[in-house]
Amino acid sequence: MTSLVEIDGSQGEGGGQILRSSLGLSLVTGRPFRIARIRAGRKKPGLLRQHLTAVEAALAVSGGAAEGASLGSLSLGFHPGRVVPGAYSFAVGTAGSATLVLQTVLPALLLASGETTLTLEGGTHNPWAPPFDFLEQAFVPLLRRMGAEVSVVLERPGFYPGGGGRFVARVVGGRPLSRLTLLERGEVLSRRAVATLAHLPRHVAERELATVRAALGWDAAETEIVDARASRGPGNVVTLTLSAEYVTEVFTAFGEKGISSEAVADGAVAEARRWLAHGAPVGEHLADQLLVPMAIGAGGEFRTGPVSRHTTTNVEVLRAFLDVSVAIEADASRVATVRVG
Ligand code: AMP
Repeated sequence: MTSLVEIDGSQGEGGGQILRSSLGLSLVTGRPFRIARIRAGRKKPGLLRQHLTAVEAALAVSGGAAEGASLGSLSLGFHPGRVVPGAYSFAVGTAGSATLVLQTVLPALLLASGETTLTLEGGTHNPWAPPFDFLEQAFVPLLRRMGAEVSVVLERPGFYPGGGGRFVARVVGGRPLSRLTLLERGEVLSRRAVATLAHLPRHVAERELATVRAALGWDAAETEIVDARASRGPGNVVTLTLSAEYVTEVFTAFGEKGISSEAVADGAVAEARRWLAHGAPVGEHLADQLLVPMAIGAGGEFRTGPVSRHTTTNVEVLRAFLDVSVAIEADASRVATVRVG
């Protein structure tokens, strides 16, 4: 099946994920695609540096060709080549998310026989993108459960606007991806709140962790301040990690000028509370990110909270490239069961 796939970048959620999933699925299927109205749903539509790096990464690992791969471009044609494992380095060049660049090429590298080492530079801890800790603690462990051999190591964090973070991902591709069944969460076995600070006063982290302890009733022993002095620029992130029997989830909120430390912590607490309340194992972000690996593998099923537009939009992109069935069934409390394949 190598017919051209036409993608509308403004559909559904209308963000960069439509482009990244298309690139990833194009590499996996060998099907070229054309996407129009890229990121039409965003304030600054078109290809930003981060998206362009994702396109360049997809070209580099496959020796493919693209038309319209320039900053601000609203449309792109992409013709994948054959994916070749190896050593690659990609730098976003701004504080744009480097973890999203990894997620673009990862599906294809999981399937291609051979070992790949990717060195990725840019933002490692960005709002609106998977923070490195989410990748390491929540997403990658589930890929491993599916049989993938993947590891990620953070060398230096990068925050907005300074960027300059770096991490290395190692993938041994060619292993069959087994079915993922994630219907139960099990008991929460451990929980951890980390306030990470780069070049900012310590009281910021102290106030954030005090807020988390008061709101969630966690112990001081479950909280920690991490001084990310290797970061090029200032940064602050609150990371809540909840490890349950069958899944680990990570919720984050970022410090911003003009937002109090208490309000920052409240953001992460609210996300963790939503997950604790709905009782399903898979949180909002994991839900949309598990779809591609499941669809290119043996499928599976998971339960999640209210389904996001990122998830429903990603399902549409999957359907454009693959002959795969995806069913989403929600109960009265909007807890949904997602079945792939
Ligand atoms: P887009 O907005 O289309 O560029 O896609 C953003 C991607 O980042 C989606 O897969 C989101 O689920 C993911 N994402 C955004 N915020 C977080 C977060 N706090 N933790 C994990 N993933 C996130």
